[in-house]
Amino acid sequence: MRIAEVHVYSHDLPVHDGPYRMAHADVRALKTTLVKLVADNGLTGWGETCPVGPTYAESHAAGAVAAVSEIAPGLLGTEVLPVPLHRRMGGLLHGHHYAKAAIDIAAHDLLGKHLGVSVSDLLGGAITDRVPSYYALSIGDPGETARLAAEKRDQGYPRLQVKIGGRPVEQDIETIRKVWEVTRSAGTALAVDGNRSLTTRDALRISRECPDVPFFLEQPCNTVDDLRKIRPQIDHALYLDESGTSLDAAISAAGTGLVDGFGMKVTRLGGLHPMRGFRDLCAARGLPHTCDDSWGGDIIAAACTHIGVTVAPELLEGVWVAADHIDGHYDPDNGITAENGHIKRPDGPGLGITPDETLFGAPTASF
Ligand SMILES: [Mg+2]
Repeated sequence: MRIAEVHVYSHDLPVHDGPYRMAHADVRALKTTLVKLVADNGLTGWGETCPVGPTYAESHAAGAVAAVSEIAPGLLGTEVLPVPLHRRMGGLLHGHHYAKAAIDIAAHDLLGKHLGVSVSDLLGGAITDRVPSYYALSIGDPGETARLAAEKRDQGYPRLQVKIGGRPVEQDIETIRKVWEVTRSAGTALAVDGNRSLTTRDALRISRECPDVPFFLEQPCNTVDDLRKIRPQIDHALYLDESGTSLDAAISAAGTGLVDGFGMKVTRLGGLHPMRGFRDLCAARGLPHTCDDSWGGDIIAAACTHIGVTVAPELLEGVWVAADHIDGHYDPDNGITAENGHIKRPDGPGLGITPDETLFGAPTASF
C-alpha cells in the first residue's frame, strides 16, 4: 500500500472557555492542521497537529501547512509503513517534527484500517482500554484556581496540572498552596508547570517555600542548563517538557539523570513512531511520562490515547486532551472526551475516529 494523494486542511478551533492562560501566551482560538492521506487502494487516513499558539514551542500553524506542503509531493508512491515513511520524510525536510507528526499519525490510521487493527495494536498492543487524563489549571487568581481544582477533583481527575509563571512568584506560591489545600485529602497528583518561564531564582524559591507539597516541577526554566543548575538544589521531582524536542534530547535527559519524568507531546517528537521509541526508553529507565499533545481535536486526541494505552500503567502520568476547551467533535459519534477523569480507547481499526470532513471545508493544498 502506497501513498497516492496528500490533502492538507486548516481548521479553526475557538477556545470556548478562553483565554487559556500560560506563562507565555493567552490562547483564545487556534488553527489546527489536518492531513488526509489517500492510498493507492482507496483507503484514507487522518492526522493532525495543532501548536498551542506561536510562543509555546518553535512551531506555529502556518509553519505546519508550509512544512507538510514541502514534504507532500515527495511522499507520493511511498510505502505506508512507519520506517520507510520517516526515512523518506527525513530525506525531504530536516526537523519540523510537529508537521511530520500529522503525516505519521495519518499513516498509522491508514495502516490500521488496511490491516483491520487499531493504532494501539500497531504500537505494540494495548495494556488497558482506559487511560487516566489530567486537567490543566490555567494561570488565574489563586482562589479561583483552587475552586476549579476542587471541581476537577470531584469530577474524578487523578492528576491536576497547575500553570505558573509570568507574574510575581508570590502569586504562584499562593496558588500552589491553595490548590494543595483542596486536593491533598483526595490524593490528587499535582504537577506545577512553569512552561519554561521561571528564572532559576524563582524556581528555587517555589521549591523551598513549598517543601510540604509533593508536586513535581515541570519545565520550570527555559534551558537544559538552567534545569541542570537547579536540579541538585530542589526537593521536588523535576520533569522535562518543552526541552524534550527529540528522542536524542530525551535520551540525554534520562541518561544523565537530569529528570524524574517527562511531559511528552506526540507531535514534538514527530509522531507515533518516535513516540513508541520514547515510551520504550522510559520503560527501560523507569521514568513516568504523559502522552499528550499541545492542542487539537479528536484526531490528535485519539492518537495520544492509542499510545497511552500501550504504556505501563504505573509509568503513565496521563493523557491530556483539549476537548474540555473545544465545542463539538470531528466525529459526532466517537469523539474523544474525558469522563470521570479518564479516556476510553476508541474502538475500531486505525484511530477509531471518522471525522466529518465537511467541517474542514476545501483543502488548503492537495498533492
Ligand atoms: Mg508542560
